[in-house]
Amino acid sequence: MSTIFTKIIAKEIPADIVYEDDLVLAFRDIAPQAPLHILVIPKQEIATANDVTADDELALGRLFTAAAKIAADQGIAENGYRLIVNCNAHGGQEVFHLHMHILGGRSLGPMLTKRETD
Ligand code: 5GP
Repeated sequence: MSTIFTKIIAKEIPADIVYEDDLVLAFRDIAPQAPLHILVIPKQEIATANDVTADDELALGRLFTAAAKIAADQGIAENGYRLIVNCNAHGGQEVFHLHMHILGGRSLGPMLTKRETD
């Protein structure tokens, strides 16, 4: 179940890393969808939000404390930002190593764009 993110954790492929500790790694998204777009990932491999267990609670809690620190360090904390975790096809998940998106740097508008088919 290894993904490209496993290789980034192992430093086998490059990434613009902005934060790292014993449990999580954060790096800039390769295709940013906002002026600031950072991914925070647990170092342990968890494929999707469906696969989370109680054993993951420390690492997943750390995603939030890391995100708060990164937001402060990047200067977007006061204005605000959006945290997103996509799951499987309907969630639009493309990389099957659970990750949190930090999006900010501008007003992001409504959470979802309403489509005619909704
Ligand atoms: P998902 O759709 O799975 O929630 O988001 C996956 C994200 O990973 C996308 O925003 C995509 O641009 C990003 N991504 C995919 N491959 C790489 C990569 O090799 N390096 C970096 N930095 N980001 C990647």
